[in-house]
Parts: sequence; structure tokens; C-alpha cells
Amino acid sequence: MMRIGMLAAMLALLAAPAAAQQDMSGVEIRVERLAPGVAVLFGSGGNIGLSYGEDGNVLIDDQYAPLTEKIAAAVATLDPRPVRFVINTHWHGDHTGGNENFGKAGAVILAHDNVRTRMSAEQFLEALNVRVPPSPKEALPVVTFAQGVTLHLNGDIMRVVHVPRAHTDGDALVHWQNADVLHMGDVFFHRVTFPFIDLSSGGSVDGLIAAVNRALEMAGPNTRVIPGHGPVATRADLIAYRDMLVDVRAQVAAGIKARRTLAQIQASRPAARYGMPDGFIKPDQFVEAVYKSLRGSPRPHSHGARTHSH
Ligand SMILES: [Zn+2]
Repeated sequence: MMRIGMLAAMLALLAAPAAAQQDMSGVEIRVERLAPGVAVLFGSGGNIGLSYGEDGNVLIDDQYAPLTEKIAAAVATLDPRPVRFVINTHWHGDHTGGNENFGKAGAVILAHDNVRTRMSAEQFLEALNVRVPPSPKEALPVVTFAQGVTLHLNGDIMRVVHVPRAHTDGDALVHWQNADVLHMGDVFFHRVTFPFIDLSSGGSVDGLIAAVNRALEMAGPNTRVIPGHGPVATRADLIAYRDMLVDVRAQVAAGIKARRTLAQIQASRPAARYGMPDGFIKPDQFVEAVYKSLRGSPRPHSHGARTHSH
């Protein structure tokens, strides 16, 4: 039953339709102010960034559809104006589940090109063995970008920067330059679990490490860092996370070089020293994702296709 419980929790985190069937009546949205005009909202699903003020409210991610009214009510405690823009950090349902509601209410949704592409068609999350149906038109980003976009609102400059092939192939980081707050989406899981690298959505361990290094370039010594999941973090937390990724990657790479199997590498427990045995991504699952990312996992329908080295 343990495995079924874990799977249900992961489905709830990632697949909006599964979550929509869950009872979210007990979920409360907690607001934490980080700077004038900048807050983070915690509820169920990915952490929400908020820019609020006279130029209109901007949400970074919007959790699940059943929470839209509560999220809007939480925003209204800071500013009565409607949500003008929604920025999605990536396509997963625990970050985009509110898009349809906010889109219908008039918000303009922005995201990387690949977020719209993936949300427009059925997706298969290989690690979870789950299909996610295409999203309705109103949930899709209407403004998409390849490299990034900048918003000039509420006395701040919000730089939205794409980081390739990290958690997925459509991740964006968002930095408030004046408030010095950085929202990282699921490029950063802080304390609650080992990272989920969604290989079937184009994620990779090397891209993830590069994305965290990019974030460290954007961040200063006092930057407040909003992770996709977990509490607000510091630059030092982000450095520790990067070092963990580099360490586990190196151990797995050494195992592959020594021709050890995945099971043998897992048995050497490369991630054990970092704790978090009970997160929704277990140490063995994280090691498996790193292994497959480095080795290149065989794709479905590609039997007989040769892997070419470059
Ligand atoms: Zn995600």
C-alpha cells in the first residue's frame, strides 16, 4: 500500500486532472511577504510568486483549478485588482492547473514555447507511467518566448529567463531585479524532496546543474529564492543544492564508467548523506533519473535505433 500511496501523491503533484478529483477544501493559501509588492503564496502544488501593485497583479504559477478562488482571495488581501498576467515556470499540472480559470477571467498567460507545445497535446510522464490529456485553449499560454521576456511593472523589472533541458524543456526562472527575489520553479526543490528530473519532458541532470548555476549568476548575496516546492531559501541554500547535484552526478558517472549497473550504483547510496528519505522522490528514484539522463534512456518505439556518440 505504501507504493500506491506514494504514486497517488505524485499523481496529485503532477497531473491536474487527478488533482481536480481530489478534495482541496481543506487547503489554505498562506501568504508570505518578501519585499514591497512581492509575495509568495503557499497552498497545494508549486509555490506561487506574486507581484502586486498599481500596474496589476502578476502570478508566477497557479497551482490547481479547485484552488483558484482561494488564490484570488489571497491576492485580494494584498491588492484588490484582478490578476493581469500569469507566468508559468513549466507545464506540469501542479503549476498550471489554475490557468484555465485565470485565462477565462482575462489574465494573459506567458510561458516558454515548449510549455504551450506540451500543454497542447497529450503528454506521457514516463517516470510516473501516467498520461496527461491536452489542456483546453483557455489554459494555454498566449504569449510565448524562446529565450526570455521582461515585465516592467509595479516599480520593478521582472526578468524571465529560459533555462534549457533542466527539470523539463520549458523551464523559466523569474528575477525581480529591484526587490531581489528569484522564483526558480521546479529547477529548485528545497528540503522537501530530492529533485524530480522529468526526462520524458526533456529534462536532464546536466541542464539542471547549468540552470542552477545560471540562477546563481542572476542572484546576489542577499537574494530571496523561491523554490518550486519547499520554504523560501537563501543563496547559500542554492549553492548547497547545486553541490549536491554535482556530487551525486559525479558518483553516478563514476559508476557508469566502471560499468556498474543501476542497481549496483543505487546500492552504493550516492545520495544517502543528503537525507530526505521520505520525500516524494526517493533517493533511489533520483539516482535512477541521473543514471538515465547520463546514459541516455532507450526511448519507446526506437528499437533498433542506434545511439550515436558525438
Ligand atoms: Zn514540475
